[in-house]
Amino acid sequence: MRRTYLDNNATTPLHPEVMQVLKDSLGLFGNASSQHFFGQEARKAVEDARQKVATLINAKPGEIIFTSCGSESNNLVIKGVTCQDVYCKSEQSLPGKHIITSQIEHPSVMNPIKSLERQGFKVTWLPVDKYGMVDPELVEKAITKQTVLISIMTANNEIGTIEPVAEIARIARKHGVYFHTDAVQAVGKLNIDVQEMEVDFLSLSGHKLYAPKGVAALYIRPGVNVCPVLQGGHQERGLRGGTENTLGIIALGKACEIAARDREENVRKIWKLREKLRKGILEKIPEVIVNGHPEKVLPTTLSITFKYIEGESILLRLSSKGIAVSTGSACSSGTLEPSHVLLAIGLPHELAHGTIRFSLGIENTEEDIDYTLEILPGVIQELRQMSPLWPGNK
Ligand code: PLP
Repeated sequence: MRRTYLDNNATTPLHPEVMQVLKDSLGLFGNASSQHFFGQEARKAVEDARQKVATLINAKPGEIIFTSCGSESNNLVIKGVTCQDVYCKSEQSLPGKHIITSQIEHPSVMNPIKSLERQGFKVTWLPVDKYGMVDPELVEKAITKQTVLISIMTANNEIGTIEPVAEIARIARKHGVYFHTDAVQAVGKLNIDVQEMEVDFLSLSGHKLYAPKGVAALYIRPGVNVCPVLQGGHQERGLRGGTENTLGIIALGKACEIAARDREENVRKIWKLREKLRKGILEKIPEVIVNGHPEKVLPTTLSITFKYIEGESILLRLSSKGIAVSTGSACSSGTLEPSHVLLAIGLPHELAHGTIRFSLGIENTEEDIDYTLEILPGVIQELRQMSPLWPGNK
């Protein structure tokens, strides 16, 4: 059976060049903290990779901390900035207890913030417009003397909307508040420049940009005050204890080097495929809604609501025909709750339930889109014929 992978926002396959570098590095077992030559070899590989990650986002190598996943990077910022431990921060310099974020963040941002809320922090959960866009004016209005952190994602994983993060970062800077952006879905797809964006923290994750799972990074602007969450040894400037994942880090470095080299060409190609898919669906299938911003959107992401039917049934039928997509985000599938992102852009529950995310990547071809457009209309028609909600059945 033909296999068509359209779930690249959930995870990406390994890039063949990343796979090759991994194969070549399998024997590199030294501990990067050891002082002998085994250790030095590993240290050099880690530092080379750090340089490559830094180059991709226009940072300096010393500003990059390696972590195990995007979720860890996000937790490190949120818990590390708000830490109230007088061992890390003196009584006088304990941070304020107000955080600003949006209603459409990834659970790895929302859940640590909800935990702080339960511990007494005040949180402003900013609404978004019908495209999923945060209004920078609302961010500025929400800032108080107690605000210690603003966290707004660079691009949304479910609907692809690109947020005005540079503008929000300038507002945060003006008010002396730290600004974090979860750029896990944006790095490798958008031009990410931490100097231009003026962010204090930026999270990225290996498995969203053709490196393996289990490795990620966090950019930290020099001079900002953050406490470690994973306490241990002196690794990663004391901000993330634990022996470095040398192989993962090497792979992430390679993936970032490739992204810097190929990003523009890949984006052009993927955008064409996305547009072909979007137009094809609109042409062939009635009663659909395209979610997300019409222009300020990730080239890789196409969120479509198919009225009157369930996303899960669409997903399973497509899967049986060899097409892999997702409903909402992978992390919230498996629950019956509709996606918080789709609800936040104003979709009623029943429409949120009928939404499919197609997410494209570098391996997709015209044939993948042709095949999807050949299979999808029949799947939708069949499900609608069985749906009591479909007007034709009433
Ligand atoms: N942030 C966003 C926007 C994501 O899409 C994801 C993963 O889906 C994450 C964070 C978490 O990344 P990881 O899977 O590396 O923990």
